[in-house]
Amino acid sequence: MHLRHERLYIGGAWRRPATDRLITPVNPSTGEPLGSVPEAVEEDVDTAVRAAREAFDAPGGWAAWEPEQRAEVMERFADELDARAEDIATAVSSQNGMPISIAKQLEVGYPSAVLRYYAGLARTTRFTEIRAGLLGGSVEVRKVPAGVVAAIVPWNYPQVLSMFKIAPAMAAGCTVVLKPSPEAVLDSFVVAEAAEAAGVPAGVLNFVPGGREAGAHLVSHPQVDKVAFTGSTPAGRAIAEVCGRLLRPVTLELGGKSAGIVLDDAVLDPAAVGEDLVRATFTNNGQTCFLSTRILAPRSRYAEVVDLFTSLARSLPVGDALDERTLIGPLVTAAQRERVEGYIAKGRAEGARLTTGGGRPAGHDRGWFIEPTVFADVDNRSVLAQEEIFGPVLCVLPYDDVDDAVRLANDSDFGLGGTVWTADPERGAAVARRVHTGTIGVNRYLPDPIAPFGGVKGSGLGRELGPEGLQAYLRTQSLYC
Ligand code: NAD
Repeated sequence: MHLRHERLYIGGAWRRPATDRLITPVNPSTGEPLGSVPEAVEEDVDTAVRAAREAFDAPGGWAAWEPEQRAEVMERFADELDARAEDIATAVSSQNGMPISIAKQLEVGYPSAVLRYYAGLARTTRFTEIRAGLLGGSVEVRKVPAGVVAAIVPWNYPQVLSMFKIAPAMAAGCTVVLKPSPEAVLDSFVVAEAAEAAGVPAGVLNFVPGGREAGAHLVSHPQVDKVAFTGSTPAGRAIAEVCGRLLRPVTLELGGKSAGIVLDDAVLDPAAVGEDLVRATFTNNGQTCFLSTRILAPRSRYAEVVDLFTSLARSLPVGDALDERTLIGPLVTAAQRERVEGYIAKGRAEGARLTTGGGRPAGHDRGWFIEPTVFADVDNRSVLAQEEIFGPVLCVLPYDDVDDAVRLANDSDFGLGGTVWTADPERGAAVARRVHTGTIGVNRYLPDPIAPFGGVKGSGLGRELGPEGLQAYLRTQSLYC
């Protein structure tokens, strides 16, 4: 893996950037600089959108290719990504602090599976349908590619979240300008190399690593047809306002504060369910949008549930993200750690009971580490229970009966994920169906590429993954014949 890049991948070539501005990612496990890449500025974004526009509009270009031809390119691209799995996993973990064992499960393998899944959908989707007209004649209903896509992703799962956009866009026949977050850029260069090696046609994929300004310029660019954004709710609202003004289709995958409902019959043996519970609540150091960070426990078993999460949190090995034994790495930046520490201070001030963690772990003087933290006796209307903390911090709240649990779960400005824990999966599913979120799991949680993923309320608009995710990159034309 190269840690230093001097050119940007735009229009199928490695181009000199418009300025000499650099992004210098830092390893959050050590605080040391990792390397440097050019920072794309507005002029680079303009060049990238022009390249994507030309690739889309060219007669016989990507949009006009047969879906089968696009699928073949996508499968070669998936193979090239798999061949670079080691580099990609290392790049992600050393930039955002994701434990390497998680990066190897989720940031490699999963994105190429998504790419192959959409290659399959490109082959099987009916893009044209002839309907007999009610008023005589017939109507050809066509699903055509939406056009040039502006894709903007955060740092927490840079590979997965990029591929949630790139794969359906490519299957539909769209071209893409992708803006990675400045905290996680090195991996995007490996993806560009894979695209080039796979023979993805020039201009179909373009990468503009940059900050908010570059992102804002891309979203409002007159030559962009569709926006796909994953990130925080405040940034999503700002982008939605711009897209509303421009009447530009937009998909928004935003923040969350999901509930984990423990039913009174749940099996809470750590040997049996500990791994699934930790995965659903602490994955990626708490820096995962769908985590069940509000644990709802029946009063009859409240003390037991608090003890369980307290001991699970204490059992998690904290360490360097590149160490295979690590389950909790550092937070992405010093600023993010300060933000999380601010929430811990607020929780204490609000009167919540800290049962474990709350500080910086001993023996980790370098890097932006924080102890896995659990609060009990939390009020659902408090800041701790309502705001997205984005760190390894759980709160455990008591409920009276199942109706009360559902009420508390739904008493949130967010609606992304959630879980129900029970010995009776049927009963769990019945409770899960009453929760107002885009996704929810019973005794486990892992977004499956075949199923639409996304949120309601402050968690966003639209869906990624599944056939629904492909529809977001198509528009419909009716041709009366
Ligand atoms: P962020 O909103 O600050 O930034 C996300 C991306 O958007 C970055 O690339 C950033 O440069 C860009 N950006 C920010 N403001 C912009 C603007 N006005 N116009 C255009 N681009 C802009 O979020 P973050 O801190 O990088 O990521 C963490 C957030 O992402 C959390 O809230 C998390 O819940 C959310 N997230 C959501 C999902 C999901 O699928 N729902 C998945 C992962 C992360």
